[in-house]
Amino acid sequence: MASNPALAKLNFVLIPLLSASRIIPMVDIAKFLAQRGVTVTLVLTPLNAAPFTAVIDRAIGSGLLIRVLELQFPAKEAGLPEGCESLNLLPSMAFVRNFYNATDMLQNEAENLLEEMKPKPSCIISDTLIAWTADTADKFQIPRILFDGMSCFSQVCLHNLYIMKDQNKIPDSGSFVIPDLPDRIEVTKAQLPAAFHPGTISIQDIRDKIRAAETRSYGVVINTFEELEQRYVDNFRKRKDGRVWCIGPLSLSNNDDQDKAQRGNKASFHKEESLTKWLDSWPSESVVYACLGSLGRIPVVQFVELALGLEASGYPFILVIKAGEGQEPIEDWISKNGFEERNKRKRGLLIRGWAPQVLILSHPAIGGFLTHCGWNSTLEGISAGVPMITWPLLSEQFLNERFIVHVLKTGVSVGCQEVVHFGEEGKFEAQVSKEEVTKAIKTVMDKEKEGKESRKRARELGEMAKRVVESAGSSYLTLELLIKEIKEFQLNKSA
Ligand code: UDP
Repeated sequence: MASNPALAKLNFVLIPLLSASRIIPMVDIAKFLAQRGVTVTLVLTPLNAAPFTAVIDRAIGSGLLIRVLELQFPAKEAGLPEGCESLNLLPSMAFVRNFYNATDMLQNEAENLLEEMKPKPSCIISDTLIAWTADTADKFQIPRILFDGMSCFSQVCLHNLYIMKDQNKIPDSGSFVIPDLPDRIEVTKAQLPAAFHPGTISIQDIRDKIRAAETRSYGVVINTFEELEQRYVDNFRKRKDGRVWCIGPLSLSNNDDQDKAQRGNKASFHKEESLTKWLDSWPSESVVYACLGSLGRIPVVQFVELALGLEASGYPFILVIKAGEGQEPIEDWISKNGFEERNKRKRGLLIRGWAPQVLILSHPAIGGFLTHCGWNSTLEGISAGVPMITWPLLSEQFLNERFIVHVLKTGVSVGCQEVVHFGEEGKFEAQVSKEEVTKAIKTVMDKEKEGKESRKRARELGEMAKRVVESAGSSYLTLELLIKEIKEFQLNKSA
């Protein structure tokens, strides 16, 4: 890449919320931006930066202008357990308020370090959930651009749902149609994010602060591409006075196997080699990959149905099991039931902790993705061109499920009925039986009957996704426009 001094003078400051699935796409944005020659500053803490050091060091080694500013996370001062520096590591939902307080405490140190930076910050790309960056942007007189990791489809659905909520029009039970959408989308109140359920731990004051800060933003970057959801992009863009930049799929910033394997985890590459060998041993499009994301957990009774349903489908599978607190009942069941032993000899591979998801999904042996429908995972599945078996858990994941099943028509639902709120998994019984799991998998994996059309559509979308990030693709050009806009903003400021 030929260096361009004028571009290198632009410094994009990226401030992610400290949670694995919010940092991952920000690191991808950093790479995409730096590949265009601008300087990028990522604001993290040492523990949150550690899983990304391998990927970032490689990017820097290849000449990209990426810096990492490490702030000290005030866990103790905010009443959090030591080392608890990210949302996905909180022992329970009861600590969410402490986590947001700690996040607020980062402001001073961040501003002091940014003050000393050369080149001076040109704009901030901030996680929507970090409200103080609105003041920081004002102080530095630079634009604050938001990133919250959702699709335009979800943004539009949620906007219309909030209007319904304010008018008390959301029925407590039964399904209803979300108004004013290009497609007919039905949901129930029980499937909506926590903000629609006053019974769950209340952080309404924090939400209100975030929403107020949102109105002070310059624009929004979205991990999506125009062609995937054009009508929703247009709708959302109209509401944001045109300042919406669709620059995804962000996961496609990782195009060598090492970057794919170490995305979000600096794990040894050797392990990934044996995984690749295992995948190589299966015919193309024959393996089901099952992973429920970084945040959500399911109770053991539900895990049993998932595991047995996968096994009974008869397809080879990879099942990702979270590591850490609260997982003991699941591990107990696995060993007592002999699930791992029995399947190891046959066709099942269990991965504990963090799976190299993008590497796995890009392998030709993968034929279906059983996903919790987090937007990162959804778009990674779309980019890999695989049809999906949808198992939403929380946040806006039921909306993403509707998008996959009813708008894109590239997936089949296992039939979850309600959100399992973060930290309240123990209260829930199994919502989905093993028979339902098996049925959904068979429908998606069947290459002759029902699954044939959705597989074809998924493949076409996957090809489209790869084209949009190549030069002259829509996301590629949009990123160029964003950089141009920031450059002009800077020029006008110094004029
Ligand atoms: N991920 C991964 N390995 C895992 C679990 C998750 O690489 O074992 C990545 C996944 O590729 C995605 C992110 O973590 O980029 C999860 O984000 P998503 O929005 O799908 O769901 P969340 O974790 O926020 O529920």
